[in-house]
Amino acid sequence: MQLPYAEPFRIKTVEPLKTTTREEREVYIREAGYNLFNLRSEHVFIDLLTDSGTGAMSDAQWAAIMTGDESYAGSRSFHQLKNTVEHITGFSYLLPTHQGRAAENVLFSALVKEGDIIPGNSHFDTTKGHIEFRHAHALDCTIDEAFDIENPHPFKGNIDLKKLEKVYQSYSKEQIPFCLITITCNTAGGQPVSLQNIKDVKELSDKYDIPLLFDAARFAENAYFIKTREEDCKNFNIKEICTKMFSYGVGMTMSSKKDGLVNIGGFIALQDEELYRKAGNFLILFEGFLTYGGLAGRDMAALAVGLDEATEFPYLESRIKQVELLGNLLIQQGIPIQKPIGGHAVFIDATRFLPHVPKEEYIAQTLAIELYKEAGIRAVEIGTLLADRDPVSRENRYPKLELLRLTIPRRTYTDNHIRYIAAAVCKVFERRQEITKGYEIVYEADLLRHFSVMLKSL
Ligand SMILES: *Cc1c(COP(=O)(O)O)cnc(C)c1O
Repeated sequence: MQLPYAEPFRIKTVEPLKTTTREEREVYIREAGYNLFNLRSEHVFIDLLTDSGTGAMSDAQWAAIMTGDESYAGSRSFHQLKNTVEHITGFSYLLPTHQGRAAENVLFSALVKEGDIIPGNSHFDTTKGHIEFRHAHALDCTIDEAFDIENPHPFKGNIDLKKLEKVYQSYSKEQIPFCLITITCNTAGGQPVSLQNIKDVKELSDKYDIPLLFDAARFAENAYFIKTREEDCKNFNIKEICTKMFSYGVGMTMSSKKDGLVNIGGFIALQDEELYRKAGNFLILFEGFLTYGGLAGRDMAALAVGLDEATEFPYLESRIKQVELLGNLLIQQGIPIQKPIGGHAVFIDATRFLPHVPKEEYIAQTLAIELYKEAGIRAVEIGTLLADRDPVSRENRYPKLELLRLTIPRRTYTDNHIRYIAAAVCKVFERRQEITKGYEIVYEADLLRHFSVMLKSL
């Protein structure tokens, strides 16, 4: 018999969790305007809002915090980070930023102008926000299989080459500054992009002279899926696969709060000196000097260690298998989830889970509120609230899938927590026929409304 996998770490520090009663939670969520972002964390028992900056650092990372170099210019920690990034990605030019969206802001300031078209697989919300803020357009060219949650396609983050070529034929080269591949594709359900697809997209883009960029927040998880699902790649190690993936692009933006295994941070890494200089000017304007860009030296030091740890197979295996455990427990109870199970989260199909709530009443948000009331679990809506309004017509955009995301922080919860979560979801599922009414918006912002929206129950 083969031994099962086990976490390649043990727990050295613990943080107590507080429990609350259902009656207390009903008050807290009403006071939060039925927006889970407005809840105080001590009113949440298990926090599955996001895996962004919510994971645990290793003892080696904490040690790096103590030895970080806080020099304004030329910090040793910057050079440690630069070397690690270059080793993993092959990109020699590094601009640190305080998080992923800052990397987008800096790089897009150099690359995106009004009227531009940015094709890619489903763009992340802040990415789309930074594109639309510049009056440019994000065009989703994800394969159709991604929108059928039962389809077991192993790489549902892939770009449909026909859709992409149509974009390249419909607009001039001057209007398309780059094609953006998000690895893994968060919006499509934490689904990976195959190395073959990256290669094919690169080949097609070369024909039209369009460069390729990566939104690489979960690149290590993407590399794990390539290793375990793409026959040609099974004998490469994770770091080799990362270098191969990135070799097809000219650069990347990174939210280090994901596969950097740190609580804050981001960066831009580039192949080309000229673009580095151009973006560097915006970095100095928005973030900070070229060798710290909004981060403390100690943050860069911890990130260098984190990137190295995140690109090791045993860590990735324990991470992704824990997410899989939750998914499989839900599947066993007949709960409709996105398949295959994604890298960082389990996505519940809220439309099928709550068949009686109309789409105008925010189905996935309704489910998120029910799960919080049931068990103090905070999940997040990936549905109509997140999809925002159309920038021109101001009508609600109803996405193809209305999902509830249960996002698993890295190295944070035990498998016993996972079983608790699954049991809580099942309890809501058992009483789904009684849930027939949703919510109505009483306040929303013009952009990225899901963060601050206020709702009223119907
Ligand atoms: C998190 C994330 C971002 C934004 O990064 P922040 O660190 O949250 O600003 C951009 N793209 C993807 C794919 C992400 O997951």
